[in-house]
Amino acid sequence: MSQTGTLSELFQAAWPTILVLDLSRYLIAAGGLASVLALVARPIAARRIQHRRATSADIRREIGFSLSTVVLFSLVGFCVYAGSQHGMFSIYGSALPGSGQLLFEFALLVLLHDTWFYWAHRGMHTRWLFRRVHRLHHKSRTPTPWAAYSFAPPEAIIEAAFLPVAGLLISTHEITVLLFVSHMILRNVIGHAGFEIFPGWWLRVPLLRCVTTTTHHDLHHSNGGYNFGLYFTWWDRCMNTEHPEYRSRFITATQSRGSFKRNDKENKA
Ligand SMILES: [Zn+2]
Ligand SMILES: [Zn+2]
Repeated sequence: MSQTGTLSELFQAAWPTILVLDLSRYLIAAGGLASVLALVARPIAARRIQHRRATSADIRREIGFSLSTVVLFSLVGFCVYAGSQHGMFSIYGSALPGSGQLLFEFALLVLLHDTWFYWAHRGMHTRWLFRRVHRLHHKSRTPTPWAAYSFAPPEAIIEAAFLPVAGLLISTHEITVLLFVSHMILRNVIGHAGFEIFPGWWLRVPLLRCVTTTTHHDLHHSNGGYNFGLYFTWWDRCMNTEHPEYRSRFITATQSRGSFKRNDKENKA
């Protein structure tokens, strides 16, 4: 059997499954959170971060581009899978390693991805790349969970490229990759929730305050000059790009009797 024939057969056998997994993750995470927020929107109204509401056109655009990203992610996912079958990537699927090893691999992937995301994201905010690559994502000035994968195709490729690069550098089990991509979509939809869903004491706990909240990424959508980080705040703190009002906006959003009094200058722009 020719190499091309083998690859084509592998594609037909594996890609539909990878596509369904990527699509399911997006629909379950974004759809699940959007549904829960719609149900509890009234009781948690004080936690809404912006005055402005996303329009139905915003949501349609977010879903449309997220679905295009899902297809691109699945194609890159197939390349990683096919490459792993030929020993190109250190992603292994043999016996499950111990929980300590899985946790180590997962933490390493998350830390590496956080760094990848921060610097790629900052790069995409340079004038030339912003216009050509990243502007589409910022059309969601008031993001909803559906915006999690709302990227123009070039940005989707940059985001997807992390996994093959990581697969060249470190050895990880297939289960770790599954945990990693599940954590990625979960944190992504939370960052775009539009309501602050973290508890008010979050930033008072030193170990937790380095984990980004919804307000953190929401502020990036209303003022793109700050808060480029994805999972953690330390790159923004280290590079002096954390929004100066991050803490106060978070506190306002989590006050039980908070009312709409934030972000207005930026949202009305
Ligand atoms: Zn975003
Ligand atoms: Zn951005």
